[in-house]
Amino acid sequence: MHKILYKATILLVAIIFTLIIGTAIKACNYEAPAPQLPIAENVQKYERCGTQAYCEELLKDPEYKKEFERRSKYLDGIQGRIAQRTENVLKIPVAIHFQGVADSVSRECLEAVSQEQIQKLNDDFQRKNTDRNLFEIRKGMYPGVEAGAVEFVFQIANQNHPKEFGLQDDDLAVTINKVTGDREFRFAGYLNIFVFDIENNILGYSPLGGATNGDGVVIAPFAFGTATACGKFGGVADFEEGRTLTHELGHYLSLNHIWAVQNNCATDDGIPDTPESDSPNFGCPAVNVIKCGSQDLFLNYMDYTNDNCMVMFTKGQSDRMSNWISLFGQRLTNNAEIVISNPEEEDPVAEVPIQPIDPPEEEEEEEEEEEEEEEEEEPNDGKSWWTAFWDWVLGR
Ligand SMILES: [Zn+2]
Repeated sequence: MHKILYKATILLVAIIFTLIIGTAIKACNYEAPAPQLPIAENVQKYERCGTQAYCEELLKDPEYKKEFERRSKYLDGIQGRIAQRTENVLKIPVAIHFQGVADSVSRECLEAVSQEQIQKLNDDFQRKNTDRNLFEIRKGMYPGVEAGAVEFVFQIANQNHPKEFGLQDDDLAVTINKVTGDREFRFAGYLNIFVFDIENNILGYSPLGGATNGDGVVIAPFAFGTATACGKFGGVADFEEGRTLTHELGHYLSLNHIWAVQNNCATDDGIPDTPESDSPNFGCPAVNVIKCGSQDLFLNYMDYTNDNCMVMFTKGQSDRMSNWISLFGQRLTNNAEIVISNPEEEDPVAEVPIQPIDPPEEEEEEEEEEEEEEEEEEPNDGKSWWTAFWDWVLGR
């Protein structure tokens, strides 16, 4: 009896001791609060687009406002139709005006970056971009949305240049420190691209639907072209795929941001096939972003996502831009015949291979099913390993 009491006492002491030590250890395991994650630097540092503020200023001019509203009304009215088709793909002559270029930066380098940028533009507008599959594999999430392609190409002009800029025939229409600001009337009839530092780290801006002859879009040096750099000219991280210019030219050809007015689901971009939205997306969001009751189309060039996340215009957007060129872009397309030579020499929209991207889950399942089918078709003696095992045990 004493032995039992003795053992029970030892056991009780051991339990109390364990509880005291356990509580002490737990008290020492104080969890410090998780460190605050830094907010994505570029979202803070850069402003994706200055078009809205710029156009609010332009709309104070009654002449611009009247013309802007006339064009918008016309384009809205013919939505869903192509205004005019031509046998040949229309050409848009481009002139690029670099400003604030250091002496150390060569013309050859700036021309190379310009050609890369124009190739990217044509890939994007013609839906030849190698990353277009990013949308295609998620298409099921966007009922009624098709990716689109326009019916024109961009090409840097190369002959009959305005006299004052020292350019000869066969030179590209690329000026270096010869143009100031965002209009150059001596380059009327061109789609002008003005590359210079914009205040407040804005990446670019454009007159919505174009403003006047000699105008064009403005783009910051660090968002122009690709990762190839000529001094400060060339795309930096997050903006190195040339898509700032794709976005701004979308504005020039009358496309609004896909959310149109912030914090308001009732206002729309006027394009029937873009899902409703009420605010921009940044970086490259997770796949599901529901706004205004539908999956947000953050893969669209008219959103604010990073360059490697925006990969498509919708068919509705592409048709609207083609209509703009047909109806209001004759000053550009007519001038192309004068300032662009050797039209057959190069195909600016040559087919480019699609970039391999991980297939979606449905396709993986299909592949697995195919593999299973293949396995089933493989010749064998008709026995599973389980049957073979029992055959071996039972000596059959
Ligand atoms: Zn914009």
